Amino acid sequence: MAETKTKKGKKSGAKSNGVPKLKFNTGWEYAPAPESKTHIKLNDRYELFINGKFVKPLSGKYFETINPATEEKIAEVAEANVADVDKAVKAARNAYEKVWKKIPGSERAKYIFRISRMIQERAREFAVIESMDGGKAIRESRDVDVPLAANHFFYYAGWADKLEYAFPGRVPRSLGVAGQIIPWNFPLLMAAWKIAPAIATGNTVVLKPAETTPLTALKLAEIIQESGLPDGVVNIVTGFGQTGADIVNHADIDKIAFTGSTEVGKIIQKAVAGTNKKITLELGGKAANIIFEDAPLDQAVEGVINGIYFNQGHVCCAGSRLFVQESVYNIVLRKLKDRIETLIVGDPLDKNTDIGAINSKTQLETINKYINIGKKEGAEMYQSSCPIPGRGFFCRPTLFTNVAQSNRIAQEEIFGPVLAIQTFRTDEEVIEKANNTPYGLSAGVWTDKGSKIFNLTTKMRAGVVWANTYNKFDPSSPFGGYKESGYGREGGLHGLSAYLKI
Ligand code: ADP
Repeated sequence: MAETKTKKGKKSGAKSNGVPKLKFNTGWEYAPAPESKTHIKLNDRYELFINGKFVKPLSGKYFETINPATEEKIAEVAEANVADVDKAVKAARNAYEKVWKKIPGSERAKYIFRISRMIQERAREFAVIESMDGGKAIRESRDVDVPLAANHFFYYAGWADKLEYAFPGRVPRSLGVAGQIIPWNFPLLMAAWKIAPAIATGNTVVLKPAETTPLTALKLAEIIQESGLPDGVVNIVTGFGQTGADIVNHADIDKIAFTGSTEVGKIIQKAVAGTNKKITLELGGKAANIIFEDAPLDQAVEGVINGIYFNQGHVCCAGSRLFVQESVYNIVLRKLKDRIETLIVGDPLDKNTDIGAINSKTQLETINKYINIGKKEGAEMYQSSCPIPGRGFFCRPTLFTNVAQSNRIAQEEIFGPVLAIQTFRTDEEVIEKANNTPYGLSAGVWTDKGSKIFNLTTKMRAGVVWANTYNKFDPSSPFGGYKESGYGREGGLHGLSAYLKI
């Protein structure tokens, strides 16, 4: 499916913005290197995972999950209705009261370690299915999503019997049943982020994956079943927004953990207001990546590429706004354009692919809508000239210059490979510009000066600030936002407290 057509880079020697164009070879000449699909096992139909078993939905309904790179159906998946959700919550409650809250942390840890090991053993299978169902490049799912998901289970398994050390002098107690709703950008990893801390702290779970990417959560259910985790500790129900709402509104749920759009986050917040449910929300972002004139420019450009183009820009902490100090603007822009010209867009299963498929037709329409808005607002667009497959949902890496602070492409989350570039002169100016957004999830700073890093990180309203790197994750680091990016932290010690009464 990946096009092998050779497309030469543009002529060398031409000047743009006074900076000579570099001579480069595009990567598009690589021979296809697709990852094999022969080692994966997928059913034609997936049921709900409730009380340790795969059961038919009471709704009697199923929906299709498709491969966004080919638009072909992969499998049918059960659509849970309110009665199915109720059944899952009852199973979770029963498991909580009768088993899970009673057994010692060291016993809980054994199961969670086992789940981590089993994900590692089946890592290739998970990576391929993740790329097929969600469209992300295999390099990402293989090197980032799956190892990090296994690491999350591993990390939280370690805490299960040490909770009193995490909160000295306190008696941490589990909450009960957690309802967890996750998006499509990191399907397995988000499931791990949610499930691992919840069960390590003695809670039981009803989790709903996103409707476009349910498969790796259901494969995880197979592992959970095989691991011998007591029935009902983890239940996985698939469906659309209504299934999510049925979880949120269920009276016997003690905690809601949601990752997704700010719009749905607000609906959920209203729904739980006035109830006893605890809540954590990880919502949208519009991160600023800031390059100072003293930064190592090649590394910074690579960090920008990693921050917005890899993973198709489907990252809530994507560095979608770039601020470049005026004195190095021309050279940075030249380097960026040259680099995006070498990115390979295409078959997510090809190991050479940098940018896979956009997750869904709807998302591609949203991205294209914003590209048109950017043009209409008067910003200048530059897109890589790489070939893209004729079928499936793909978007070329895109950047905009001449962007104003008020432009919608600089204010609103696009969730695609679209970068809005602005310039600045002073530290104060860039801090003000970077903070001028309703969001506050993450940011990046590129400079040679440690003092500048400290100055900026203390003044920027963002939950995570990366310095001279971008999009780096570790289970021991907390993650979460300010303002409309939500509240509560996931990961690390902070991630434990979200699931405990302390
Ligand atoms: P995105 O824009 O990233 O798709 P959404 O917020 O629409 O994000 O979806 C994230 C998750 O929330 C998905 O699992 C989706 O099915 C679920 N969801 C959508 N609407 C609701 C709702 N009203 N209540 C609860 N969950 C919802």
